[in-house]
Parts: sequence; C-alpha cells; structure tokens
Amino acid sequence: MKDDAFIHLCQPDANKSCGACCGLYNYADSTKDSLSRRLRERTNYFRETIRCREDLPDFFRTVKMSEDTRKIYEVIYCCEYLGFLDDAEKKVGCLLHPCQNDGADMREVSFYGRELCEGHLCPSYHYLSREEKLALTNIANDWYLYGLCVTDIDLVKSYFRLISERVCETPSPARLKENGLGDIILNFFSFKISWPFRSSATNRFGKYYFDGSEYMINRIDYNALGCKGSRFNSIFLSLSSEFQNMQELKEGEKLIEANIDEFARAYLQ
Ligand code: SF4
Ligand code: SF4
Repeated sequence: MKDDAFIHLCQPDANKSCGACCGLYNYADSTKDSLSRRLRERTNYFRETIRCREDLPDFFRTVKMSEDTRKIYEVIYCCEYLGFLDDAEKKVGCLLHPCQNDGADMREVSFYGRELCEGHLCPSYHYLSREEKLALTNIANDWYLYGLCVTDIDLVKSYFRLISERVCETPSPARLKENGLGDIILNFFSFKISWPFRSSATNRFGKYYFDGSEYMINRIDYNALGCKGSRFNSIFLSLSSEFQNMQELKEGEKLIEANIDEFARAYLQ
C-alpha cells in the first residue's frame, strides 16, 4: 500500500523538490527570483559545457567568479552544483547526480563528497510524523516554499498540533484532500514568504540569527510588548517575526487564529 512506503522528502514528486541542505537558502539574497536566476544560469552553463568530469574544474571556477557568493551563515556551504533538474524548473537538485549525467556519478568533486551527499537524510526525516510528511508532500506545489517548510520542523509540528487540537484528532492525509483543506494549510505555510511581521534583518533565518560563524536562537521580548508571551511563540519565531508593539502582536495572532478557525470549520463540516 502506498502509505506504507518510504516518503522521499528530498524528491517527493515531479512538481517539487528540496535543496536546502545543499545551501540553497543560505545566500544573502535568497528570494525566489534571485535563487531561480542563479540556478537557471548555472544549470544552463552546466548543460552547455560539461561533457565529462574533466570539464568540472572550469565550471566550478566560472561559477565561483560570476556569482554573488555572500552568505547568511558562513559555516554552511552553498554548493555550486545545485541546479534545476527539469526544463520546467519545478525541481531543484544535484547536477552531478547520475540521473542527470547518463549514469555517471560525479559528486566526488563536490565540497561534501559523494558519500555524504548520497547518504544524507536531514532531521525532518526523523522528526516529522508520517502524517506531517504526507500532508506537506501532497499539498506543497512549489520547490521554493516546499524546501522552506519541510526543513522547518518547529513550524510544521506547531501547526499540526494546533489544528489537531482544534479538530480533536490527527487529520488524516486522505481527509486533507477534501473541502479545500489543503489550500487552507498551504495558505498557512505561505506565511513563510508573505508574513507581514517578518524581520527585515538580513542575518535572520527562521528562529535563528547569525553573527559571523555563530548562530543563536532569537527571542521575542514579550515584556517589552506588554504581555507575558503568546501561544503562537514557536510559529512566530519560525516566521522570523519582529513586532513593534502589542497591536502588531495581536494582529499576528489573529492571522494564525483565522487560519486555524478556517481549517476547523472546513474539517468539521
Ligand atoms: S534538507 Fe532534507 S529534505 Fe531537503 S534535500 Fe536535504 S535531506 Fe532532503
Ligand atoms: S554535490 Fe552534494 S551538496 Fe552539491 S548539489 Fe549535489 S548533493 Fe547537493
């Protein structure tokens, strides 16, 4: 039965994939437009110039010299060989992978090396439940948002805990295909891109902020806002929130609550 099969979070289907652990979101400019341009140019260049592994050093040097190499977090490597796997640019992935090169595996030239690249399974494989994985892979339809969400374990778990509490059960992946429930969940995860209270600091990524080679977990100073905390704290942190005052905090809470209410109404119909 399909539901018993291993869920491949990296390359779940033909419409999306993830490249987060190859450093995709670690560029200083990690907007979708900027990343798309970067991946498109290097993929085209790879396709035009790489005929065998001896061509790779020139490719590497050219990419290094021509691209903006500024990063959010110095410690995380941004791999030059991440590109688009398909002409429609729906899937990001490894240009050195054998599936991209008539069976030739060229990943040994990469920073991490073939064994690490081949064997790596990020913590989401272990910490997300089967229902959470299926919900994400069934609902997300875009590589940029998918990669941002599938790697944000706090955001995924916090949201599914909240909606499960509201409907008094763990929503089954099959139910999420009904009544527009998938769209409601997608709207919630889209806050990852459109959240109005997102900090403008360039050294923030989800709940983390970076100082050179150090990283720390951000805290929201609720006392300064005039309250003790929020039940949406972990979600706010994942969304890199920065509230200027109590009114903004309340507006943020209303946005989350409205989504959960909408989900519960549609689910309990
Ligand atoms: S971050 Fe996780 S899901 Fe994404 S490509 Fe890496 S191992 Fe796969
Ligand atoms: S070589 Fe490794 S790190 Fe680079 S894109 Fe391929 S899988 Fe990712």
